[in-house]
Amino acid sequence: MINLKNLSADRVAQFPDHFGKYQEPWEGFPHILKTQQFSREMIERLIFEDTMKTLFHWKNRSLISYLRDGRVGVVTYFFEPSTRTRMSFERAVQSLGASVIHTESGAVFSSSAKGETLADTVRVVSGVGAGIGYGDLLIIRHPQDYAVEEAAKFSRTPVINAGDGKHQHPTQAFLDLATIYLRYGKIDGLSIALVGDIQFSRTIRSLCYLLSKFDDVKIYLVSPEEISIKEDIKEHLTEKNVWFREEADLNSVLPHIDVAYFTRLQAERFRDQEELCQQLKKKIPLYSLTEKNLDLVPQQAIVTHPLPIGDNEIVEKIKTDPRIWAFIQSDIGVATRMALINRIFKELGKLNMHQNFKELVFSGLGWK
Ligand code: ASP
Ligand code: ASP
Repeated sequence: MINLKNLSADRVAQFPDHFGKYQEPWEGFPHILKTQQFSREMIERLIFEDTMKTLFHWKNRSLISYLRDGRVGVVTYFFEPSTRTRMSFERAVQSLGASVIHTESGAVFSSSAKGETLADTVRVVSGVGAGIGYGDLLIIRHPQDYAVEEAAKFSRTPVINAGDGKHQHPTQAFLDLATIYLRYGKIDGLSIALVGDIQFSRTIRSLCYLLSKFDDVKIYLVSPEEISIKEDIKEHLTEKNVWFREEADLNSVLPHIDVAYFTRLQAERFRDQEELCQQLKKKIPLYSLTEKNLDLVPQQAIVTHPLPIGDNEIVEKIKTDPRIWAFIQSDIGVATRMALINRIFKELGKLNMHQNFKELVFSGLGWK
């Protein structure tokens, strides 16, 4: 008779405590759900050290992976369209020598189409039953705000938020910061314009929390009034004494920046407001970079975009200008994601989690 007693839900629920006994490298470790989890020290470690070293060692084929030889499997579970995030995560995982199982369009192709809750899916995939599961890391994108954070509560394995509704996209913000760091070798003292749909863009929200950890950063929030940044972010910036200014006129800001970060209109977030959407589509050209206003961007500055470009926020003709770093940024995304995932498994390795876990499973099942 197989003894599953030790693997009851109660036993599994002890795992977060188990992580807790160890000095957590960041709040909520091993999950990456929102950028508020990270201290300045940890951000610097992950970006200035881990990501930069990953870029170097990966190119030189000298990277040490803590996901060793295909013994770690990663599940990417995407309920929303994605090109880069999913591909760059999968490339990152494979480059670290692990395997990937993916469900694209989760809402259509997974059991959620039959009514399964996200909690149950996470229980299954992360193996809360007998501890086997289908993945050692779960990367989830979901259209609902906070859905991934909620899902992580049911997971036995680390969970990474690859974008939840209009809430956050933490790994994108890390790669944005890595891109800026690669250009300037610092974040302190830089002037950054966040342009476009800064209300519904989850990447902007995640980035603001990271930027607020640095000193003397100036943030220009440039958007039409209807999609200006939400109050909670302004409150956060005020509380952290970050200099920011809301601006409607892009061209007045461009000459003063080190980084101009463009975003597309997140039309899918307010589909029910057709009229507003149409109005905003007409305004977007005023929040775009074209041959006409590119000259206002200082020569040493960079222009970034989380991609995809939706309504010509950066027009085709100027995409090869050396200041346009949007495509460098998406490349750096792979190294950033490798660094973050590698760090999770390195820290878990210090805990000897896998070994403990295997013993738990096998003793629970009555196997040797
Ligand atoms: N979310 C974007 C995409 O899915 C890019 C990114 O987040 O890295 O295409
Ligand atoms: N790719 C980013 C995201 O998934 C930005 C965007 O979609 O506009 O949030």
